[in-house]
Amino acid sequence: MVQNLAQAAYASPAPEASHNAITAPEYDVIVVGGGPAGSTVATLLADRGERVLLLEKAHHPRFHIGESLLPLNVPLLEQLGVKDAVERVSMPKYGVEFVSPAHNKAMTLDFGQAWDKTYPYSYQVRRSEFDEILLRNAQAKGAEVIEGIRVTDMAFPAPGHVVATGRDEAGQDHRYTARFMVDASGRDTLMASKMGIKQRNPRHKSAAVFAHFEGAHRLADKAEGNISVFWFAHGWFWFIPLADGTTSIGAVCPPEFIKARKTDTTSFLHSLIAMAPALAARLADATMVGEAQATGNYSYRAERISGPDFLMVGDSFAFIDPVFSSGVYLAMKGGFLAADVVGTCLHGTAAQAERAKRHYATDVSKSLSRFSWYIYRMTRPAMRDLFMNPRNFFRIQEALLSLLSGDVFGPSPIRPRLMLFQGIYFIKTLALRWAGPAPLPLSKV
Ligand SMILES: Cc1cc2nc3c(=O)[nH]c(=O)nc-3n(C[C@H](O)[C@H](O)[C@H](O)COP(=O)(O)OP(=O)(O)OC[C@H]3O[C@@H](n4cnc5c(N)ncnc54)[C@H](O)[C@@H]3O)c2cc1C
Repeated sequence: MVQNLAQAAYASPAPEASHNAITAPEYDVIVVGGGPAGSTVATLLADRGERVLLLEKAHHPRFHIGESLLPLNVPLLEQLGVKDAVERVSMPKYGVEFVSPAHNKAMTLDFGQAWDKTYPYSYQVRRSEFDEILLRNAQAKGAEVIEGIRVTDMAFPAPGHVVATGRDEAGQDHRYTARFMVDASGRDTLMASKMGIKQRNPRHKSAAVFAHFEGAHRLADKAEGNISVFWFAHGWFWFIPLADGTTSIGAVCPPEFIKARKTDTTSFLHSLIAMAPALAARLADATMVGEAQATGNYSYRAERISGPDFLMVGDSFAFIDPVFSSGVYLAMKGGFLAADVVGTCLHGTAAQAERAKRHYATDVSKSLSRFSWYIYRMTRPAMRDLFMNPRNFFRIQEALLSLLSGDVFGPSPIRPRLMLFQGIYFIKTLALRWAGPAPLPLSKV
């Protein structure tokens, strides 16, 4: 009898007799999900000679939100061998423009001014194209990819033996077996939901309404591909210029505010844009392509990232607010780390596997926390002031730009400078409090 997931992960192993009844797994690794996290892990493992099966519920190319990448995505794309392919379909992004009505100005931060200047730009991509490039590359490197299969259940009948049940589009179930499983199911959180270990972050919940526009006024010259972040009374907007001339616009607001809307999603997005005059001016001659869509963005984290024969990677483990465009980078960098851990689990000793999983958990958690500290405070007046009036004493600004480029994994010379930045933030917060009644955070205005 196959144990259910939670039992397999946390109860004693199945009796010896049942081990003997189990036939040899067909694959070394089953990867669930063909987004950036899953395709990255599958590519790296297949390239190392592992028998990899990737199961994806959709068919690529498929729409996905999350179109702005970070500079430290670029070396990952190089290592996967897809940088040129991605470059052909993307818009170069050299920096981030913040537009603050409270300061009545815009401020551009250029990645070329970061502490480490090796990767001064990144890309804006249509995720349908980007994700397909990554998935086909995994196939080309030897991973078997089956699209149109939704994994509905995972079971762990014995150590080193996992069984995935996947339902095809005709409603028929199929069973696949492997020695190890990687959950890259994104915000579907296959394992965390099944195990009941998904913890929503009550301090950070938001929702988004978004659409593509034709004819938006973009920044000039090299800055044309920059992402712009427009703060407004109910949150913030992204403005992401894509290579084919369309521009992705999205508003991120408290979920209650979006749920309370009285109109359809498209009219609602138009009404929000009207509340942000600087953005409205950039869209004065623009037309929405199709309808607007809405999605909840609750931040969450699973209580644990791995079990005896599985690992979570990317959004399947945790999701943080997209204000720094960090999701794809975290998913792919996590994919690189996860591939090494899976290799150790397949070929190392039990002690080595446990150590590798522990390090992976620590590395991923620290990277999330390093971004989250800023995300939680991004709508506070002191943080907005620091972003809108950058100063580079002790190279603090360069350190901040490196963080925004994705320098959140492992040791880095920027960490002490960022501690200094955090100290300045706290002093500024106190100074603002002493100066008068605490201004409301933007989302509460
Ligand atoms: C509003 C919003 C804006 C965002 N903006 C940005 C941005 O500008 N930049 C950025 O970097 N990130 C952004 N993100 C985050 C980004 O979209 C994600 O972090 C990123 O896609 C995570 O990659 P992933 O591979 O972990 O998951 P996903 O990209 O979600 O991939 C998961 C895949 O698994 C498949 N799947 C799910 N369940 C199953 C199943 N049971 N069986 C088989 N297949 C399954 C799905 O079809 C999907 O293809 C944004 C997110 C939101 C919500």
